[in-house]
Amino acid sequence: MPKDILDERLTSIDKAGGANLKCERASLAGAVSQRACVFCGARVVLNPIVDAFHLVHGPIGCASYTWDIRGSLSAGSELYRQSFCTDLREKDVIFGGVDKLRAGIKEIATIYKPPAIFIYATCVVGVIGDDVEAVAREAEAAYGLRVIVIKAPGFAGHKAQGYRLAGDALSKLLGPKKPERKIRGINILGDYNLAGEMWIVKDYFREIGLPVVASFTGDSTCADLLKAPAAALNVVQCAGSMTYFAKRLEEDFGIPWIKASFFGLEDTARALKETVDLLGGPEERRRAGALIERESKKATAAIAPYLPGLAGKKAAIFVGGGFKAISLIRQFKALGLSTVLVGTQTGQKEEYEVMASLVDPGTVILDDANPSELEAFMREKGADVLVGGVKERPLAYKLGVAFCDHNHERQSPLAGFVGVENFAKEINLTVNSPVWGHVRAAAGAFNRP
Ligand code: SF4
Repeated sequence: MPKDILDERLTSIDKAGGANLKCERASLAGAVSQRACVFCGARVVLNPIVDAFHLVHGPIGCASYTWDIRGSLSAGSELYRQSFCTDLREKDVIFGGVDKLRAGIKEIATIYKPPAIFIYATCVVGVIGDDVEAVAREAEAAYGLRVIVIKAPGFAGHKAQGYRLAGDALSKLLGPKKPERKIRGINILGDYNLAGEMWIVKDYFREIGLPVVASFTGDSTCADLLKAPAAALNVVQCAGSMTYFAKRLEEDFGIPWIKASFFGLEDTARALKETVDLLGGPEERRRAGALIERESKKATAAIAPYLPGLAGKKAAIFVGGGFKAISLIRQFKALGLSTVLVGTQTGQKEEYEVMASLVDPGTVILDDANPSELEAFMREKGADVLVGGVKERPLAYKLGVAFCDHNHERQSPLAGFVGVENFAKEINLTVNSPVWGHVRAAAGAFNRP
């Protein structure tokens, strides 16, 4: 790599303390970033609106980004699990794709009759310039449903830009109407109900006696989301994807917000306590205290058998947002593992500073990594386990490093007190599996000259 590019790249990597790390900026061209594109960022936020129709206006390749790799669960409609696309081809690129889009919307509106259609205009549409907004306005008038356009060409930025576009789309869905009365309850933002995690968190608040008015966007229907402006507080679980929207809700409806992670014993207890301190009365506080005490005891006892097998192991973390990475560092510490590498796709400066304060000196902290960097630093630091998502999984498998999916493909809930046990169990299973030794031995044999 040329020296000037290398120097530029090294400002996104820090081994000393995080203070000089650069983040929240465009990826280096040609560096094959682990970051997802703008469209993916928007889709991850909006797709769990389960009764809406999600239509990709672009080539079929974009539509491969479906529910199957973003496994948010629904208690009702399954419409959101299907993948729909206008499948733009060469002729459409030359003559325009609006006729296909009109035909697609007509088919959706007459056969499925959803309350809303979200149209994602991807890279090709950003280049050819279809007037997607005009088609959407026509369709709203003709079919009497909401048609919301997300202009999300992947090249226009990166995943964080997609989060903002999704926030704008959600604001459009809610409209400007103020609620007639307020509810002493919360909205949960940024819990996508992976493996049913939203249901676990909702159960906690049900037991405490604080209603969850709406959830953005796990197991959400359009009608549920429209109730959100009545809530008294927004609790932001995934800060990376939902901080922008939380600020919009504060501006539009005067709803204050807090960040609250439900990953790990310490953070889950803190999240419940802070929410109840802000909104609850004496009875809600008493119930929250009892719940935290009861569930903490259970979780502490449940993880005890795993601790001997985990002591002294080294963890690498590469996830979407900084807030989750912070919780993971704390969780690993509680399990006896040290974090030797931590990075994110869209972390913010203050989050990296918190990470730096939690890890040991010498830990590699990096923003917007590429696979070669992850590989080099995992080797250098001797990581025993990588926590990441769908794009990091093959890298760990090829290196013979244990892997835990803490992203949208996870099968068992990792949030809440029950998630503390599941996480310890999963890390123990993978890190102590004999298979990695065989993979490394085979790779070594293969690499011999
Ligand atoms: S980068 Fe462009 S073409 Fe690729 S998935 Fe994203 S929107 Fe589609």
